[in-house]
Amino acid sequence: MWILISPSFIKYFTPKNVSGISIFPFIILEKREIKHDKSFINHELIHIYQQMELFFIFFILIYYLEFLFLLIKYRNFQKAYHNISFEREAYANESNYNYLKTRKWYSFTKYW
Ligand SMILES: [Zn+2]
Repeated sequence: MWILISPSFIKYFTPKNVSGISIFPFIILEKREIKHDKSFINHELIHIYQQMELFFIFFILIYYLEFLFLLIKYRNFQKAYHNISFEREAYANESNYNYLKTRKWYSFTKYW
């Protein structure tokens, strides 16, 4: 996994108020300082693991299908985003710095 700093990538290729994104094998951050935010990096690392398990392409497909379904269900962008199973797993465990050492494969399915 490599960490890249690219304010312009974040600005043009992610929704508003996003400061980082995981695109296996990279974590792309808006600002260098975010590198030191342990829980933010752990959150993105959880996404890297999810992407590896799903060969990246299936992660993207499931992520956006779930998001669309939840957007129709809740009619609220933030609520839909926070309820995507991949995000629920990442938010629930981002402050547990040992999580990835003990995490079982496909653990995001527990959050469906
Ligand atoms: Zn996330």
